[in-house]
Amino acid sequence: MKIYISADMEGVAGIVTDAQLGPEGFDWRHACDLYTDEVLAVISELRDAGAEDITVSDSHGTGLNLRIDRMPPGVRLVQSWPRRLGMMEGIDDSFDGAILLGYHSGSHNPHGVRAHTMSSANVFELALNGKLVCEAELSAYLAGHFGVPILMVSGDDAICQEVTTTMPQCEPAIVKQAISYHSANSLAPADAIDVLRSSTRRAIDRRREIKPSVLSGPVTMDLTFKNHRPTELLAYLPNVEQLDAHRVRFVGNDILEISSFFEFALNYSPDLKP
Ligand SMILES: [Zn+2]
Repeated sequence: MKIYISADMEGVAGIVTDAQLGPEGFDWRHACDLYTDEVLAVISELRDAGAEDITVSDSHGTGLNLRIDRMPPGVRLVQSWPRRLGMMEGIDDSFDGAILLGYHSGSHNPHGVRAHTMSSANVFELALNGKLVCEAELSAYLAGHFGVPILMVSGDDAICQEVTTTMPQCEPAIVKQAISYHSANSLAPADAIDVLRSSTRRAIDRRREIKPSVLSGPVTMDLTFKNHRPTELLAYLPNVEQLDAHRVRFVGNDILEISSFFEFALNYSPDLKP
């Protein structure tokens, strides 16, 4: 059995603010340990359930938060950016299932710790085929392109609620209750690990009945920026349509093209070095 884990940080128990989410924050190193412990708990349960091949992507911030020196032998770790498949880089049709760990609700959701979609600074919202989506849904469609189902989503109660229509069969693992954007009532880490282990086990036991989330045919992406300039400049490209002052539309032949365009739009800058 081969399993992919896409790991984000905002949905980890005990993590709520900027002070924990990047290397400039005073409590980031400690938060990296909490994050790594949750990933290790899921890996351990997957191994107990018979998964011999596991790939993890560190998909938060710099992509350099998980402690690779604590990963058990045989586990692969995807780090840093850019990546065409974003938070799902490394997924392909050889995987039996995927897990979204530490995820958070989307920018259009009024509830949830650090509710945002890919960039809290730059992106207002993201819609696919006319429906607003969060990062978990984008990840699910990328996995779905390869026929891989999302077996489990972990994070606060808001994200677990948000994905119930896109991924009704996936196993939720709620490790904290959101109070506001920067506040939560969290389980203690040891209790969060118990929740993650039991949800992982249930997800693996049910994996054959869980269907992939698939967007077939061309996919229309409406991307709304917080500012004017990215919208104006992207609309110079012949395959991009400007819908209004903040919004552009791109139509991809499949979700992979959508992901490449989205990653380009968020990462390109002419002063990139080296
Ligand atoms: Zn993140």
